[in-house]
Amino acid sequence: MGKKYVYLFSEGNGSMRELLGGKGANLAEMTNLGMPVPQGFTVSTEACTKYYEDGRKINDEIQAEIYEYLGKMEEICGKKFADPNNPLLVSVRSGARASMPGMMDTILNLGLNDEVVEGFAKFTNNPRFAYDSYRRFIQMFSDVVMELPKPEFEKIIDAKKAEKGVKEDVELDADDMKDLVVRFKAFYKEKKGEDFPSDPKIQLMEAVKAVFRSWDNPRANVYRRMNEIPYDWGTAVNVQQMVFGNSGDRSGTGVAFTRNPATGEKALFGEYLINAQGEDVVAGVRTPSPISHLKEDMPEVYDQFAAIADRLEKHYKDMQDMEFTIENGKLFMLQTRNGKRTAAAALKIAVDLVDEGMIDEKTAVLRVEPKQLDSLLHPQFDAAKMKAAKVIGKGLAASPGAACGKVVFTAEDAKEWAEKGEKVVLVRRETSPEDIEGMAVAQGILTVRGGMTSHAAVVARGMGTCCVSGCGEIDIDEEKKVFTLGGQTFNEGDYISIDGSTGNIYGEAIPTAAATISGDFGRFMGWADKERKLQVFTNADTPRDAKQGREFGAEGIGLCRTEHMFFEETRIKAMREMIVADNVEDRKKALAKILPYQQGDFEGLYEAMEGKPVTIRFLDPPLHEFLPTKEEDIAEIAGELGVTVEKLKSVIEGLHEFNPMMGHRGCRLAVSYPEIAEMQTTAVITAAINVTKRSSFKVTPLIMIPLVGEVKELKFVKDVVVATADKLIEEAGIDMKYEVGTMIEIPRAALTADEIAKEAEFFSFGTNDLTQMTFGFSRDDAGKFLDYYYANKIYESDPFAHLDQKGVGKLVEMAAELGRKTRPDIHLGICGEHGGDPTSVEFCHRVGLNYVSCSPFRVPIARLAAAQAAIKYPKA
Ligand code: PEP
Ligand code: MG
Repeated sequence: MGKKYVYLFSEGNGSMRELLGGKGANLAEMTNLGMPVPQGFTVSTEACTKYYEDGRKINDEIQAEIYEYLGKMEEICGKKFADPNNPLLVSVRSGARASMPGMMDTILNLGLNDEVVEGFAKFTNNPRFAYDSYRRFIQMFSDVVMELPKPEFEKIIDAKKAEKGVKEDVELDADDMKDLVVRFKAFYKEKKGEDFPSDPKIQLMEAVKAVFRSWDNPRANVYRRMNEIPYDWGTAVNVQQMVFGNSGDRSGTGVAFTRNPATGEKALFGEYLINAQGEDVVAGVRTPSPISHLKEDMPEVYDQFAAIADRLEKHYKDMQDMEFTIENGKLFMLQTRNGKRTAAAALKIAVDLVDEGMIDEKTAVLRVEPKQLDSLLHPQFDAAKMKAAKVIGKGLAASPGAACGKVVFTAEDAKEWAEKGEKVVLVRRETSPEDIEGMAVAQGILTVRGGMTSHAAVVARGMGTCCVSGCGEIDIDEEKKVFTLGGQTFNEGDYISIDGSTGNIYGEAIPTAAATISGDFGRFMGWADKERKLQVFTNADTPRDAKQGREFGAEGIGLCRTEHMFFEETRIKAMREMIVADNVEDRKKALAKILPYQQGDFEGLYEAMEGKPVTIRFLDPPLHEFLPTKEEDIAEIAGELGVTVEKLKSVIEGLHEFNPMMGHRGCRLAVSYPEIAEMQTTAVITAAINVTKRSSFKVTPLIMIPLVGEVKELKFVKDVVVATADKLIEEAGIDMKYEVGTMIEIPRAALTADEIAKEAEFFSFGTNDLTQMTFGFSRDDAGKFLDYYYANKIYESDPFAHLDQKGVGKLVEMAAELGRKTRPDIHLGICGEHGGDPTSVEFCHRVGLNYVSCSPFRVPIARLAAAQAAIKYPKA
C-alpha cells in the first residue's frame, strides 16, 4: 500500500499537528473526546507538499484516496454527496501546523448543483435558504477557486435589488435567489468560457487544490515571513460536513475564548450571530452579540457550550479559541485551538494557570511569545495629555496600546507613507487579509465594522499593534479618503490618536510616554531567569540607554558604539579637525579636545551599570561620515576649521570610497592612526579609575576592537591599548583589570578564530557586518532587492533580522569552537541586531555562546527567548 495521505477525524489525534495541521489535529482530538463535531476527513500536509512537488497537481492516487474517504464520510454522516434526496454538503478549509488566521481560503456549502439544490430545498423545507446557500456557494467558489472577483457578483446582486426596488438582501425571496443563481452562472460562463462545474466531485477536488494553492498566496507569504513559519510546512485541508447556522432563529454561529484574549480575565468571552453562517462573525460584516446573551437566547445550548469550553481548556491546559455553530438548537464544535492573545493576557493567563495548579512554571515560561513582550514595553499615551484631549468617538478595545499618527485609508498608502518615515493610523471600513502589510507598518488600526474577533482585531493582537474596531459612528468614504466622527472631518494626513486599551478615539495628536509594567511581568520574568543559561546584555551608547537596559534586566553592556558620541554638536568639530589634520601632532591636538567628552561619557556608563561589565567598542565608521556633503555646509565648516574650501574638498575627495562599508573603517582606522586608539584607551581607563575611586564597586572595562580580519592587526591595536592602559593604571596606583577582545564580523576572522583568540580575551559576534560580508550584500541596500528574493522563494526571511543559521551561523559555530580550542575560558557573545531576535537567541544558546546583547527594549525579549531555548534544548 502506498503512503496514507487522508485521515478520518476519528483516525487522528491532537499530537498529529505536523501531519494534520492544527485544525485537523484538534478536530480529531475533539472527536476522540466525544464532543459534537461534524464529521469529515483531513487531507494531510504531506499531500500539500506532494502537490507542489508534482508541479501543482493532485496525483491520481491521492485523488482516489480523497474519494475513498468521501465514501467513508458519507457512511458516517448517513448522507450522500451529490444525492438530491439526502444531500451531504461540506466545507473545505485550510489548516496549517501553526494557525494563520484568515490567511488562506475556505469554501462553504460545497456539493450543490441544480439538482441537489432542489432536494436540499425540499429536505430543509426552505427553498429560499437552499437557493441562498447555492448562490453563496457559486460566489465563493468562483472567487476562491476560479479567481473571479467577488465584487462583480455583488454588482449583480445590487442590480437585482434595484430592479425589485429593495435595499436589503433579506428582502430577496426564493425566486430572486434562483434568478441570481442563473445570472451568476451566466456571468461565470461569460468570463470563463465554460459552464460552472456541476459535478460536486469536481467541485471538491478543485476546492482542495485551491486551498493548497492558497498556501502560496501573497498574504500567506507575508504572514509566514513575519511569523517565521517555514514555506515547506504546507497546509492540510479539512473536509467537514456542513452544519447550518443560517437555517433560522434557533440557529447561529460564533467564536469564543475560554478567557479574555485582551486582558486574560478568566471568563468565557466571545460573540455570536443568530441566523448567520461561518465566516460572517470573523469577517466583521455584522456586529455580533456577546456570548453571555446566548444564556438568555438558548440556555441549554449555552450550558452545553460552557461545559465543553471548560473541558477543552482543562484538556489542553491552555486558553482555547473555539468556533461553534448551532443548527436548529443543536450545538456543533467546528474548531478549537490555543487562542491568540495580547502580551498582557498571555502573561496573566500563564501566571493564573500556574496558580490554578494547571501547569508548572517551566510550561508557563513557554506560553508567552518573546516578541510579544514588545507591546508591553512600548510607550502608552502621556496620561495628562490624554486626559486633556477630547474623546470624539469610541469603538471596541480590540488590541491594547496607544497609537498616534496620520490617517491613511488603504494598506498600500500605509506602506508607502511608512516607508517615507511617517507614522500612520490605518482607518478602514473593515480590514481583510490583503491588508496585512499595511497593518504591520501602521501605528494603529481603526475600523468602522467588526467585533473583537474580526480580522482586524485578531491580526492586530497577533502583531501587538494597537487596534480599535467596530466604531460604527464613523461615516467613511474610502474612495474619497475622508471620514467624519464626532462632528470632525478627517482627510488623509490628518492626525488621530486611538487607545486600544479603552477603545477611545481622539481627533488630535497625543504624545506617548514609556510603558509601566505590571506585577505579573516581574514574577513571570523571574521564572524565565531561573531557566536561562545565556547572559543578556544591552547595547547602549548613553547612560540613559544603559539605565533603561538595566531596568529591563540587562546584566551588562555588550556594545557601546563610541562613534555615536562623536556626532554631537560640541564634539564633531574636534573630530573634523582631527580628520583634516595633516600630521600626528595636529591629530593628537584635536583628539585631546575630544578626550574629556569621551571620558565623561564612559564615567556615566560605568555609573549607570554599577560594576556590571561594560564593553566599549573603538571607533568603527568610515571617516567621511563625519564630513559635510552639501556645498554650503562645506564652505561654512571650512571656515570653522580655519582651512580653505579647496583643502576641505580635497580631504573629502580623498576619503571617497567606492565601498565604504568595506573601506577605511573599524580597526583599520586605528592601524592608520594609532593616536585614535590611544585617546580612546585613555578615556576608557581614566574613566574607570575615576569611577572606581569614588564608588563602592569596581569597574572592569572591556575594550573591543572592531572589524578584525587578521590576528596581527588585532595585535597591533592591542599593543597600543595595553601600553596606554598599563601606564595609566600604574600611575594611578590602583589595582584594576581590563580585557581586550574583538568583534568577529569578517568571515576571515571566523575562519582564523583560533589565531585571533591568542590575542582576544573575548569575542563578540557582530552579526550585522558578518551577515553583510558573508552574503556579500550591503545591509543598507538589501531592502531594495530582497522582496524579489522572497517572491521567488530564494530567501524566506531577512537575514539581517533573523540570523542565517545555515551560512552565517556556521561561521559563528566554527569560530566559537576554534576560539575555545585556543582559549578555553574565552567569553563569547553576540551584539548584532540578532541578539534581540528570539530564533537567533535560540541559536546562540544551542551553539553555546555565553551572552547576547541587544537594544534596551529587546532585553526582556532576549531573556525570555534564552529561557525558552534552555527549556527546549537543556543539553546545549
Ligand atoms: C555588527 O556589525 O553586528 C555590529 C554590532 O556593529 P555595527 O552594527 O555597529 O557595525
Ligand atoms: Mg559592525
